[in-house]
Amino acid sequence: MKGSIDINGVIEGLLRDLAAVQTSAQSRWGYKRAAAAVRNLPQPIDRYVQSDGTLRKIPHIGPSSTKVIMEVLRGGKSPTVEQALASSTRKPDVDRSRGLRDNFLTRAQVSAALENRRLKGVSRRDYRGDLQMHSVWSDGTQTLESIVTAGLARGYQYSAVTDHSYGLPIAGGVSMADLARQHLEIDALNKRFTGRFRLLKGIEANILADGSIDMQDDELRALEVVVAAPHSALRSAVPQTSRLLKAVTRPAVHILGHPRGRKYGTRPGVAADWDVVFAAAARSGVAIEIDGDPSRQDLDHELARRAAAAGCLFALDSDAHSNEELEYAETAIAHARLAGIPAERVINCWPVDRLLEWARQRSAASV
Ligand SMILES: [Zn+2]
Repeated sequence: MKGSIDINGVIEGLLRDLAAVQTSAQSRWGYKRAAAAVRNLPQPIDRYVQSDGTLRKIPHIGPSSTKVIMEVLRGGKSPTVEQALASSTRKPDVDRSRGLRDNFLTRAQVSAALENRRLKGVSRRDYRGDLQMHSVWSDGTQTLESIVTAGLARGYQYSAVTDHSYGLPIAGGVSMADLARQHLEIDALNKRFTGRFRLLKGIEANILADGSIDMQDDELRALEVVVAAPHSALRSAVPQTSRLLKAVTRPAVHILGHPRGRKYGTRPGVAADWDVVFAAAARSGVAIEIDGDPSRQDLDHELARRAAAAGCLFALDSDAHSNEELEYAETAIAHARLAGIPAERVINCWPVDRLLEWARQRSAASV
């Protein structure tokens, strides 16, 4: 975040650097686990220092990680990590990884953004339903019924289940026959929960390298929410503007999911002339997703601000593969708040009837 150092993010990065240069699998695992624990702390880690100057016990953070943490808190850097890097042949990998961590928020920053009243954007209270998640029908662990009950527990009025399309077998993509069976189960659930919760019939379709979608028009039109997302060519520096332009102008696509396809520390994602993509999405009325998976955070608040300036609609989604991950929606909301996006522009904040009407119009659009 501008103007303040994200101390948890700095330390998470250093612990991941240290993990990368370990020769034993066990110590690699230990530092990675500590890094994840720091990322997930609800408060900046300096608040965990006790009056005697030592760090309060935090689960999954052992003595070697604590040493790094205390070095950074006392001196702003870690000689331990610097020495380990200097003597490692993996230094170039670490440098590359460091370049792929921009604008990722740690949990403490997500909480701060959600609670910061000076930010004028969408808030958690405005949020009515999550529009990207996976179930046991593809690569998720959550049943459809548990998606409904978990959604209700979070105060949602609807959610879209968006399992992977059949074009992505590596992620357990659902066949059209399975999708028809899933829709019967959704109909039965919606009957049971009438007036309380609506489960929407969705899909996460795959944007192929040439920008076409891995499903037919009539197949897409049978769905209430179509998220289209790139899952290949995510490491190429060659601009892929035309690929994304084709996807956001395709009828029956509602949401451009995790538009870059980046991953924290490992993958840059698609390179594109984003302002051109955002302008086209704004014209065609396709919503741009902020994917809240902590390892994705895609778009981040800086790019999202440019999409907002272009006039785009937004979908703020968890991309959950289990019910515990539904809270990732909050990471997406935090980025939207930092980007100053108002609730009116966020389709997850619309009543379900308005959402479905918008989606139907988009499905009926012709090329
Ligand atoms: Zn995806």
